[in-house]
Amino acid sequence: MMQGNRYIAPEILEPLSLSQLAQIIHRRPRALLMGGGVHVRVNQDSELFSLPAEIVLLHKVAELTRLTRNDHFLEVGASVTLQHFLEQAGEYLPPILSQTIKEIATVALRNQMTIAGSIALPNYRSDLFVVLALLEAKVEIRDFTHRGGRGKIRKEALLRLVREGFLDIASAEVITAIRLPITHWTHWQYRKIQRPFTSDQRTLIIAMVARVEKAMVLGFHLIILTHGQHLFYDYNLNTQAIGRRYPLSPKDRDYFLELLQESLTTDEESFSDYMRHVIEEVVIDFLQGRNSTFPQG
Ligand SMILES: Cc1cc2nc3c(=O)[nH]c(=O)nc-3n(C[C@H](O)[C@H](O)[C@H](O)COP(=O)(O)OP(=O)(O)OC[C@H]3O[C@@H](n4cnc5c(N)ncnc54)[C@H](O)[C@@H]3O)c2cc1C
Repeated sequence: MMQGNRYIAPEILEPLSLSQLAQIIHRRPRALLMGGGVHVRVNQDSELFSLPAEIVLLHKVAELTRLTRNDHFLEVGASVTLQHFLEQAGEYLPPILSQTIKEIATVALRNQMTIAGSIALPNYRSDLFVVLALLEAKVEIRDFTHRGGRGKIRKEALLRLVREGFLDIASAEVITAIRLPITHWTHWQYRKIQRPFTSDQRTLIIAMVARVEKAMVLGFHLIILTHGQHLFYDYNLNTQAIGRRYPLSPKDRDYFLELLQESLTTDEESFSDYMRHVIEEVVIDFLQGRNSTFPQG
């Protein structure tokens, strides 16, 4: 932080437990929270590091680095790094999630980037946010406004934020965990597509999961992200795939394609013709069981 011509180093706070974190945030509700710090460090626009007066590092808070599992869900602490999540949750991770994480940046960066840092950004939706939303994950947020205890908990379904905007984290609030239901999706597809001749590395993300039993679609979710900003999720379109034979018959294919085209045009501003064409091809290929479909094993 600059004060006149002088550089004042920020005060760095490193709580070791949730109760220490609660006390610190209660006293300093406006302190900058730092997970892996990748976003905070990269988004510096001056030559000198410009940081706020108080920074709370979250990587040593024991409760935020835990990974637990039961038959119904996987609970991941907010400060778990993406690489640790990938390696430790291993066989329990839905393959679409493993694939998504493997395609984010590099191992060195994934060793720093955290779960919470990847979903907390106020105006950017990460690849992880999209796929966690698709898999119906909930985020746990604690409010440390009031003194004592471990904070007041609220839980938000990421999918609800598709319509209601970005995750809204107030001052004195901290993301503490993600809860991911364990659902058996038999088929999945994750495509991260860069438009030729642009610098945007993740212009279009198309992610789908389906549950197919006895050649019948029992569940289907499709989610699309453009330019890290706009999320598309049409609940009615998804339910139209349910109960149909898998792979889709030519008649069902034409019917579903028409619904998809209609749904994409209601969101006209978000999709260029190029994107619409790619989305239609990828989604229909998936539902027709062509090479873009990856059985879960
Ligand atoms: C080179 C590079 C490549 C990248 N590649 C990809 C990519 O392929 N796909 C992709 O989706 N993204 C990519 N990103 C973006 C990346 O997802 C974000 O930078 C992400 O924020 C990194 O996580 P972090 O833990 O380091 O965040 P931090 O910098 O620690 O935090 C980010 C924000 O979250 C807040 N925050 C952190 N923890 C909490 C918490 N527990 N509660 C509340 N708020 C919190 C911080 O205050 C800050 O505002 C890339 C970034 C870089 C620099």
